[in-house]
Amino acid sequence: MTNRVHNFCAGPCTLPLEVLEEAQQEFVDYHGTGMSLIEMSHRAPEYDEVHMEAMQLAREIYGAPDDFAVLFLQGGATLQFAMVPMNLLKAGQKAAYVGSGAWASGAFKDAQKYGEAYLAWDGKDNGYTRMPGSDEIELRPDTRYLHVTSNETIGGIRMTEWPEVDVPLVADMSSDYMSRPIPWEKFDLVYGGVQKNLGPAGAALVFVRKSALSDANSDMGAYLRYQTHVDKDSLFNTPPVFTIYMIGKVLKWMKNKGGLPAIEQEAADKSARIYQVIDNSNGWYSCPVAVENRSHMNVVFRLPNEELEKKFIKEADAAGLKNLKGHRSVGGCRASIYNAMPMEGVEALAGFMQQFQRDNS
Ligand code: PMP
Repeated sequence: MTNRVHNFCAGPCTLPLEVLEEAQQEFVDYHGTGMSLIEMSHRAPEYDEVHMEAMQLAREIYGAPDDFAVLFLQGGATLQFAMVPMNLLKAGQKAAYVGSGAWASGAFKDAQKYGEAYLAWDGKDNGYTRMPGSDEIELRPDTRYLHVTSNETIGGIRMTEWPEVDVPLVADMSSDYMSRPIPWEKFDLVYGGVQKNLGPAGAALVFVRKSALSDANSDMGAYLRYQTHVDKDSLFNTPPVFTIYMIGKVLKWMKNKGGLPAIEQEAADKSARIYQVIDNSNGWYSCPVAVENRSHMNVVFRLPNEELEKKFIKEADAAGLKNLKGHRSVGGCRASIYNAMPMEGVEALAGFMQQFQRDNS
């Protein structure tokens, strides 16, 4: 295993090497059963143990209180864009959205299909380069929840401070999931695709406050109701067993590292290393994001021109630093440094950036 590259993809992305190796070892004959985990019934006791342990670890590491249910659902974060308003938004209520960028827009668009949704703040005019302060968020009467996107994966901005508002928050945490502790009392629901910080693609991890479901809408198909999955511990139908199994392993890895306090510190240190190179480059590299909202997960940056950006991405790739191209909608460069990216990868990128500047300026 010496030919692993440093993968800065926005997701799916790098997983801890020890997790991959452990899964490889037990893949063909899972714990002496003579079959792999993905070949057995999702009702088998071996799988049940994996499933329950992953849910328990997610709760424990994130510090989710007892009144939250932990769910593994299919359809990624994208299905949650619809499930949230379908379940929570009742006639006569409104849903408020913080318009922080591309992903918030996706959530907002879906909400408009299921009820009255509005933008309580819109970052469009500033090019989605910052998050709002609480005093900028304008809530209307009868607002059921305020939806926030804790980290905009494309824009590279993060919600550093959670809004102080008098309605519950609902958060899409896909791209900084379980990278810092959160104030649970503010939330009715948090969700995210798992394929960045927590495992392979194939599931959304949802934490929902059970009491918030007591008067939820129920006039839709069974899969679309949160209560269905709460009642069945996410075993209502066949779950994405391999994904959940891998998440369990990543969560154990996170716990062994020291849990969220250690991970939060490491994320701050790793991203700071790249921002430091940008800030010390005399403007050769630039980051469009407001300093206080710089993402700890997706570091976006520009070079002096697009030609140099193309050259940078190509030469970095040849040097084993993969997937540094910014999202096609915004261009530039983006280094996604999720929980499993080791400092070693970040140092390699920082060194490459400095050398590239020396060679090309
Ligand atoms: N929200 C955010 C913040 C994302 O980054 C993404 C995916 N990159 C999504 C939602 C959509 O997630 P999925 O592909 O799991 O549906």
